[in-house]
Amino acid sequence: MSRILMKKFEEGYFGEFGGSYAPEVLTEALVELDRVYKKLKDNRKFKKEVDYYFKNYVNRPSLLMFAENLTRHWKGARIWLKREDLNHTGAHKINNTIGQALLARHMGKQRIIAETGAGQHGLATATVGAMFGFETVVYMGDVDLKRQELNAVKMKMMGATVRGVSSGEATLKEATSEAMRDWALNVKNTHYIVGSAIGPHPFPTIVRDFQSIIGIESRKQFKKMNGKLPDGVVACVGGGSNSIGMFYGFLKDKKVKLYGVEAGGIDSKPGNHSATITMGEPGFLHGTKTLIIQDENGQIVPAHSVSAGLDYPGVGPEHAHLARSGRVQYHSVNDEQALDSFLEVCKVEGIIPALETAHAFHFAKQLAKDLGKKKDILICLSGRGDKDAAEVYRLLGKI
Ligand SMILES: *Cc1c(COP(=O)(O)O)cnc(C)c1O
Repeated sequence: MSRILMKKFEEGYFGEFGGSYAPEVLTEALVELDRVYKKLKDNRKFKKEVDYYFKNYVNRPSLLMFAENLTRHWKGARIWLKREDLNHTGAHKINNTIGQALLARHMGKQRIIAETGAGQHGLATATVGAMFGFETVVYMGDVDLKRQELNAVKMKMMGATVRGVSSGEATLKEATSEAMRDWALNVKNTHYIVGSAIGPHPFPTIVRDFQSIIGIESRKQFKKMNGKLPDGVVACVGGGSNSIGMFYGFLKDKKVKLYGVEAGGIDSKPGNHSATITMGEPGFLHGTKTLIIQDENGQIVPAHSVSAGLDYPGVGPEHAHLARSGRVQYHSVNDEQALDSFLEVCKVEGIIPALETAHAFHFAKQLAKDLGKKKDILICLSGRGDKDAAEVYRLLGKI
């Protein structure tokens, strides 16, 4: 997937990152998707349709909540939470799958496919597959299938076919390659719903646009409640979809500082973390130029994080650019710190956050102290942590 076979699109670059470096067999599919999306994205009827399902199925707008207890407990800036965990299926991922399913319907496709790691994107895809009546196939590494059996069962309950992938590490990277292969073979009737702001153009743009509802709503809600904008905005970064969706609403507000939080894993040794921006190098992965974790020979090194959703050796190309340009600051939080914050948010606020989001909470706690009282921090609560309860219990041995 790293061979440069196509450099077709002029747009789709974010500074030096992004573009479309996909195999030739995908050219036709990407060109069609780009053409249809460009036509639809400003179409009033299409926008109304997306809006309708956001309201009528996802439960948007999601709540913007003042976190009284965390504010008191951390003794610093005021803490606000954008509650994407209250969406149908419990995370932000449904925003993207709804949007792309509607795109697929407009393109006349009968079949949707997806890759999934921990199973959250697979679930969100199976959900819209059932609701819109698509034939749905989800690719999942065999190792992940074993770790996340319940998610696979849920997908099957909703009528999706779950295909195990046994090659390589048998996790997300291989599942993604397999989904791309399926798409290349079946492009006539199939749309590939990429799960994060990654992959060849136009995917990073499409996913960002559908997730930007997070930032757009947050900005409006915050302003209405406070008559100002937040001072800092914090989101966790895996592939980078919840964070780019949140940041996009504030990019032009130069006074609003933006912070992305990556998974520092165990330590900074390649293979032990997923901190692509803070520790990675430019390279090519899944059809895009971005920052990736590689060894001395340019081989991709498998990523690690306590949270399966941050466990990706690349990152959306727009983040690589925002890091380089300095508009967004990126930090990493390790497994232990994330587990700490997971339990703290449970106990103090009565909210079980996703382990992914717990990384953002840990960073926000320090930021709250640094900024001090009278300042405001907005955190994207990307998802709920029910899915992580068993894993946290296993890791800590006790609670
Ligand atoms: C998948 C997931 C993430 C990480 O993905 P991004 O594309 O970086 O947003 C973060 N939080 C939750 C709850 C997730 O399910």
